[in-house]
Amino acid sequence: MGELATDIQFLPGVGPKRAALLKSELEVSTFGELIHFYPFRYIDRGSYQKIAEVEADAAYVQIIAKILKVTLYGPSSSIFYQAGLGGVEKNSFPVDSKGQQVIKFNAVKRMSVIVSDGTGEMEMVFFKGVKWNFTKMVPGQSFLFFGKPQAFNGRVNIVHPDVDPVPQDAGRQGGSTLTGVYNSTEKLKNGGITAKVMTKMMSAALNAALPEVQETIPDYIMKQMGLVPMRYALKNIHFPQDMNALAKAQHRLKFEELFFLQMSLLKQKYIRSHGSRGIMMPKVGDAFNKCYGSLPFDLTGAQKRVIKEIRSDMMSGHQMNRLLQGDVGSGKTMVAVLSSLIAYGNGYQSCIMAPTEVLAQQHFANVKKYLGSTGVECALLTGSSTAAERREIHKGLEDGSIGIIIGTHALIEDNVIFAKLGLAIVDEQHRFGVEQRAKLWAKTTDGVPPHVLVMTATPIPRTLAMTLYGDLDVSVIDELPPGRKPIETIQIGQRKRGGLYSFMKKEIAAGRQVFIVYPLIFEREKLDLQNLEQGYEDVVKAFPLPDYKVAIVHGQQTNEVKNFNMSAFAAGRAHILVSTTVIEVGVDVPNASVMVIESAQRFGLSQLHQLRGRVGRGSEKSYCILVKDDKISKESQKRLDLMCSTENGFVLAEEDMKMRGPGDLEGTQQSGLPVTLSIASLARDGLLLNEAKAMAERVLEADPLLQAPENASIVAELRKAKYNIKDYSKIS
Ligand code: ADP
Ligand code: MG
Repeated sequence: MGELATDIQFLPGVGPKRAALLKSELEVSTFGELIHFYPFRYIDRGSYQKIAEVEADAAYVQIIAKILKVTLYGPSSSIFYQAGLGGVEKNSFPVDSKGQQVIKFNAVKRMSVIVSDGTGEMEMVFFKGVKWNFTKMVPGQSFLFFGKPQAFNGRVNIVHPDVDPVPQDAGRQGGSTLTGVYNSTEKLKNGGITAKVMTKMMSAALNAALPEVQETIPDYIMKQMGLVPMRYALKNIHFPQDMNALAKAQHRLKFEELFFLQMSLLKQKYIRSHGSRGIMMPKVGDAFNKCYGSLPFDLTGAQKRVIKEIRSDMMSGHQMNRLLQGDVGSGKTMVAVLSSLIAYGNGYQSCIMAPTEVLAQQHFANVKKYLGSTGVECALLTGSSTAAERREIHKGLEDGSIGIIIGTHALIEDNVIFAKLGLAIVDEQHRFGVEQRAKLWAKTTDGVPPHVLVMTATPIPRTLAMTLYGDLDVSVIDELPPGRKPIETIQIGQRKRGGLYSFMKKEIAAGRQVFIVYPLIFEREKLDLQNLEQGYEDVVKAFPLPDYKVAIVHGQQTNEVKNFNMSAFAAGRAHILVSTTVIEVGVDVPNASVMVIESAQRFGLSQLHQLRGRVGRGSEKSYCILVKDDKISKESQKRLDLMCSTENGFVLAEEDMKMRGPGDLEGTQQSGLPVTLSIASLARDGLLLNEAKAMAERVLEADPLLQAPENASIVAELRKAKYNIKDYSKIS
């Protein structure tokens, strides 16, 4: 009993030391967690290669071969010992009193074993475990060698192969030949947890804990979906009987993950839309109508549709939780303003939170412009607001005289108190943690949470959006305001730099401005900064004063310096802005018509797309110039080609996800996946995700509170810590 929860250290062969390693490296600390640590791929041990056919870049090969020669090397490849088919050929180790050679393994640098299978010869190399393997490596003996081949000095060898006896039925069918390969780390291997040890541990853990494993998915769903039982799945995911059993196990476990992910998200959404109270905002109000009537342009169809969606949320009596996706320049700010005015018309305040000071300022300027005719008071609160300004604003928020407040994180500080907060808008969601969003939601006065609108310009592939924001309703602005000229995107090599500079000069002479962006990737921050500074000097040399002014902005500057330089560019006092990706988010300089991206191959597609969106905001024709380094990978080239072929952010996001895999998206860019997926993949399992979602919806539709006895196993599973997704709308 209780095997599932038993500490991993009590598994035979583990102990406290290895247990600590498993915990720190794999986050595995119980038997139960171990059996849910799945192989990431499989090797078919039933198929063997011939040495003549082995290629250096194969992931793994398996050969049966006879040992021809064994050599122990000392320092600088001096030969200590060598034995061939005819016996020992060289042995320079000392002899003990009985005349026996004493092999000093401590002095041995590596062991080389030459093997042959009749089609060719190959070298097996051991740097570690020499003493142990040496006893087995007797010339004339045959073994099953298994490992990753690599090219070395023009030949192919395998370092540290697995060495096993030749199986009786080698090459013949029957019995299981599939072996799982588990993700490992250097630390695990050094700690003795080799692939073999891992397999042994898994076998022991399954033996002990499998009988306790409970079915998580109700019978009726198992039948409908044709799923195999959990125990069968676990056994076969680790030790597949055959390909077919493996496929069934994978299908079951993937469905499991996606289903419970959807359940945990949808459950909240259901509770919110059916249960929780939201502020009722039945009116539109004068301010909205005034603003709408005085707009210098017509709203696009997409803007109108989205405003309708938001309005119907706000008058529903339930809390709105909506994600608004729209490409840069699609007019999200307008939507934010009109939504705020609906809140205003119903006697509530709104706040608009931006990720950076520059963006907050820009929003403030735009919003003020739109509010001109309405008389609604609006204020800006950021980290650089003075104490006096703060006092004034805090007062205005508390007494309700400020209708719309715009700001940065300063807005969520505890001493900011609203008279009646009715709508919280968060711009560029991916820069904000969920926890920070939650703090905003908590700024409620009477226990009813404000409506929430999250805006993002990062197009998110549909499958990812379904998962990341399963608990949000999604609106999309998929139409740009009319009159936008397409941005011409081209790629050039380093040699074309001269031509690029003359082109920039022509544009500047015509009154335009130019962005030049350098890559900045965290791990190499110092190096990147050097790149940037070098780049800046080159640009200043090519564009000298007094004819040209060049500003520079990067993340290592103080906010003051950053703002000063950025404002100089925004106000047209500088012709060129050299920067890192800090300008990625939202900056609006309509007069800038050229975006130059240096070492463009180092950026992801989504990021390139974001950067390109910084130009093309005015009425002039705009250009995005991707400067690439001389030698770039095929994959990078494909990305750049794609950038040149389309401006559609959703197309690019889908491609980005396909090319990079969602791992990257989930991990680095789109943090916030509530549950870690260990076997399902959002990129590859889109169809299954749809099925899982549909099934979850059907279950909740029929049994909203999951009270039916047949759904008890779902409730039990959702109670587990890993699905403990906080309902942030409820935090106060
Ligand atoms: P986003 O925040 O989605 O990147 P903005 O709201 O900043 O886009 O809008 C970009 C520009 O387009 C702004 O200058 C805005 O005034 C303008 N704009 C917004 N909606 C329209 C429209 N329907 N027609 C014409 N121009 C618009
Ligand atoms: Mg914007």
